[in-house]
Amino acid sequence: MRVRFAPSPTGYLHIGGARTCLFNWLYARAQGGQFVLRIEDTDKARSKKEFLDEILDSLQWLGLNWDELHFQSERFDVYLSYAKKLLNEGKAYMADDGSGAIIAKMPHKTVRIDDMIHGQIQFDTSLIKDQVLIKSDQSPTYNFACVIDDAEMKISHIIRGDDHISNTPKQVILYEELGFELPKFAHIPMILGQGGGRMSKRAGATAITEYRRMGFLPEALVNYLMLLGWSPGNNQEIISLIDAVKKFDIMSANKTAATFDMDKLLWLNSQYIKVCAPERLAASLKPFLLEKGFIEPDNFDGKSISNVLKLYCERATTLEELSEALRPFFVQEVGIDDAAREKFFSQDLTREFSFLKEKFEALSDFSVQPIEEAFRSAVAELGTTTKYLIHPLRVALSGKTVGPGMFEFIEALGRQKTLERIDRIIRSFKNQPR
Ligand code: GLU
Repeated sequence: MRVRFAPSPTGYLHIGGARTCLFNWLYARAQGGQFVLRIEDTDKARSKKEFLDEILDSLQWLGLNWDELHFQSERFDVYLSYAKKLLNEGKAYMADDGSGAIIAKMPHKTVRIDDMIHGQIQFDTSLIKDQVLIKSDQSPTYNFACVIDDAEMKISHIIRGDDHISNTPKQVILYEELGFELPKFAHIPMILGQGGGRMSKRAGATAITEYRRMGFLPEALVNYLMLLGWSPGNNQEIISLIDAVKKFDIMSANKTAATFDMDKLLWLNSQYIKVCAPERLAASLKPFLLEKGFIEPDNFDGKSISNVLKLYCERATTLEELSEALRPFFVQEVGIDDAAREKFFSQDLTREFSFLKEKFEALSDFSVQPIEEAFRSAVAELGTTTKYLIHPLRVALSGKTVGPGMFEFIEALGRQKTLERIDRIIRSFKNQPR
């Protein structure tokens, strides 16, 4: 069997297109067939190299590799020769306005398709006008080029969004007129935006590249796309591409529309971040760290942050969020916002912080357990409480009011940065008018 995904490079690859592509890919891999990528770039004015590059790049990023790649713009002579054949057979005619357009006659009949998802669908073609095959600029129409290519490329199953159901009778007529064997059709239901309406920019209809920029891992996004219209069964939600190949069948795709759910996608992403191997997680984070100016392009050793990643990967929902959480480890000085300063440093803690600093300085082994012991003995000797000191300390060292375990954090931050930041806070008490 052979399937195809046929995007037009007149826009970016969006969630809907990516899901269509994925279902084709999965079905091909599940059946041991071929997956053909066909670029429908017949509209020369609206097709852009930028969109093409983005589509190919996004598919590669998602892990959806193709077996063949075709461009409709390279096949205009093929479409023209088939149009001429229909002309010669009296099944098509030249437009009478002298424009050079070629138009197919629409026979009046009932067309039935047995859709793999929707079942029997029936159309009355007497309601359909004669169809333009070749336009006056000699470019083919979508319906014509699509049929010629699907037949010539021996596509056995056409899996696409059900917004194309209305095109299907026109295409079926062309198959019949040209004497081509009819493929099987599987029209997959649309994806609705959160709230039930059309997918809008706010409700998830953003380009795949945009999700990449937001910090989604490709395996999380692919997993989410699968769930938009298919389920592996047994309430399973987390499933790898490889496992899905073993279970996927287009016949078991849902008949009703799926609804895009950003929270679900974020949840899946957090699950994948949690189990991502540290080296790969570090590599995936690199562009985000670069973007924030935390690292230099040639000067980043993923290994050096693997300890730090362990502290944060349990709770991050995106790579963007995770990279932001790592800020205290990369910057020289952490910023402390006014609200946090007001809340935690309105009293002079010079004595407490100086004492803590001495304790930390005295440690020969700057690791979690001794750090915790030093902290606890400082609290006891100062006659204060853990609570009283731990929040200001967190803010002083990380600039944030929440974060991972304090002592693990201090160990990861290291002695030098820890002492510098405590010093800085002590200095700020001196300069603060009271
Ligand atoms: N180029 C068409 C689209 O982007 C392909 C439709 C089809 O799969 O037949 O919608």
